[in-house]
Amino acid sequence: MKKEIFYHVTRCSQNRKAQGLSVISSGRPTCPNACPFKTVYHSNGRIERKGCYGDCGGPIFMHWNRIDSGQTGISFDAMVERVEKDRSLSRMKRFFDVGDLPGYGNRINYRQLMRLANAASQGDSIAFTHKPLTPYNTRAIQDAIGAGFCVNLSTNNLIHADEVARLATGPVATVLPSDCTDPIVWTPSGREVRQCRHATEGLICADCGWCSKVKRGFIVGFAAHGSMKKTVDTIVRKVG
Ligand code: SF4
Repeated sequence: MKKEIFYHVTRCSQNRKAQGLSVISSGRPTCPNACPFKTVYHSNGRIERKGCYGDCGGPIFMHWNRIDSGQTGISFDAMVERVEKDRSLSRMKRFFDVGDLPGYGNRINYRQLMRLANAASQGDSIAFTHKPLTPYNTRAIQDAIGAGFCVNLSTNNLIHADEVARLATGPVATVLPSDCTDPIVWTPSGREVRQCRHATEGLICADCGWCSKVKRGFIVGFAAHGSMKKTVDTIVRKVG
């Protein structure tokens, strides 16, 4: 039997970048195997951490564990109801700081994604996905974007960013090497990548808002950081 997917709503984030935003998290079962940073649990019990921010340890790791165990996690329906009706939540919301769009693994749950997109349509949204761009997922993402839900397509490096941007499914984000300090870099095909303004200018998302804009005309880049940045660097340089 599949493990239940739990969600969590943080009314007002204390995170430095997402400060003041309401943050919606989803459980690990939503994470796609297509994500190269996803932790691998081998059958012999070995755990292979590949750089996932939520699995790097510390408070976010404990927070995610509590969601997954159902200790603090709530159902999809309860999460959507809060997004739609709880007026104490911020107008701009950060979706899936950990976890991914609704649906198990690589597949998006179309019905749930559209319910969420419609529930969030009164405000600005910042969501990211590593789910693969199959025809089914592409349709779901485009329909959610059409309903006003900004889904950023996470890519693994500049080459991958070019590949995904060429499909014109939605706004693109990418990972940059940890030593990248340039505010602007370019993909091999000449697309502009602007590095996250929290890293370059110290802005918070509430004052920046780039990632909530579907038609922004550039890719947003995030330099690898945190305790596993060297692991992420290896993957960023390896994955095409
Ligand atoms: S680019 Fe702006 S909106 Fe996006 S994560 Fe960085 S600070 Fe937040």
